[in-house]
Amino acid sequence: MAAPPSAASATRTVIEGCAVATVDAHDTEYADGHVVVHGNLIESVGPGPAPAHLPDVARRIDGTGHLATPGLVNTHHHFYQWLTRGLAQNSNLFDWLVALYPTWARIDEPMVYAAARGSLAMMVRGGVTTAMDHHYVFPRGAGDLLGAEIRAARELGVRFSPTRGSMDRGQSAGGLPPDFAVETTEAALAATEEAIDAHHDPSFGSMLRIGVAPCSPFSVSTELLRESAALARRRGVRLHTHGSETVEEEDFCKELFGMGPTDYFESTGWLGDDVWMAHCVHMTDADVDAFARTGTGVAHCPSSNARLGAGTARVPAMLRAGIPVGLGVDGTASNESGELHTELRNALLVHRLAGGATALDARQALRLGTYGGAQVLGRAEETGSLEAGKLADLVLWRLDGLGHSTIADPVAALVLGPPAPVALSLIDGRAVVEDGRLVTADEETVAREARTQAHRLARIAADAG
Ligand code: ZN
Repeated sequence: MAAPPSAASATRTVIEGCAVATVDAHDTEYADGHVVVHGNLIESVGPGPAPAHLPDVARRIDGTGHLATPGLVNTHHHFYQWLTRGLAQNSNLFDWLVALYPTWARIDEPMVYAAARGSLAMMVRGGVTTAMDHHYVFPRGAGDLLGAEIRAARELGVRFSPTRGSMDRGQSAGGLPPDFAVETTEAALAATEEAIDAHHDPSFGSMLRIGVAPCSPFSVSTELLRESAALARRRGVRLHTHGSETVEEEDFCKELFGMGPTDYFESTGWLGDDVWMAHCVHMTDADVDAFARTGTGVAHCPSSNARLGAGTARVPAMLRAGIPVGLGVDGTASNESGELHTELRNALLVHRLAGGATALDARQALRLGTYGGAQVLGRAEETGSLEAGKLADLVLWRLDGLGHSTIADPVAALVLGPPAPVALSLIDGRAVVEDGRLVTADEETVAREARTQAHRLARIAADAG
């Protein structure tokens, strides 16, 4: 796996004097350690100061009072929802979807670009270094929506795994979305393959990997599920969808297909170590066994599940069974915070409410948000832990301020304390956050442009409705 550091920036950044949580296989931590970055790679991690007499040191950082961790990896999102936050506030999933589909069906390229910039800026400012997006709403004539979010991620300097989503089961075919919000099966498959051709980069350290992501059992035909799995495997890309999110979805699958969601997914070729699913809240013991047996991953979205009253995923049981589990913000119409670092705390609290004080600890929560996410995205050889030879995706959290200075355990301070300021975030060796501020975009501009597009969408939807 070892690749030479990218030649363009093959200088060194030395961070020392900080606590280090590597999130490697042994959960190695140093109370006082160092990280050396060479180009876009981590060159060394260890206790005490960095090795002496390193050449080409462009920057030396005193990390006293800080904690270095791997960058956070988000495994589930819908960027376009940045423009429709705070709506249908008291609805469950199906009612919330039915309320929002007519507005979502009016999105266009400038809206998706502004929403992607808002979503990405919010996450990056909070320590996310690898983002994903699940985009499945493609109104006719709306422009290049996937291209718009790829452009936004490239400009912000984020490692990105966008998925080309799809819906082809409208209401007239027994689905939940209105017919005007869905594509034909053929059009969805053709556009998905075009997205892979145009954008997918499978190389080590890639900044962009495409995935294939039909939306859910209640918005996608069986044929599209089957053909999407075949397409992804033919092209060597990963598969993603929503699964087992609510009791209503379970009822839908039993009524239409005569089986629960997990059995339905298995019957359509949708379990495997190249698949990860969002939510997986309503899982039987047999479902958990099936995920473990096949290596199917889970994007756990605690805040979204709470916001929609969907239930609590059985994450402790999944981890015991060896299922790869990462964390997801989910779309910001069902998790208005839009941040991932706060999900570490939320995950821990939700599972302790459900399973007691030992259900999930702070280090497990940090692992979900870092290495677990990298596993789920198929990138654990490249990112998700601080180890020599891996990509320089890392965060230096400030823990000596008011919110954290009296918590001696830095991992507990990060997970249990208030959201920690990001002193520095590196993606592919490049600084994207310094002293809590984005380096690669102006936050006020991003906020203003997103609001302009949110107003535009609301006006167009109102005129159409
Ligand atoms: Zn979702």
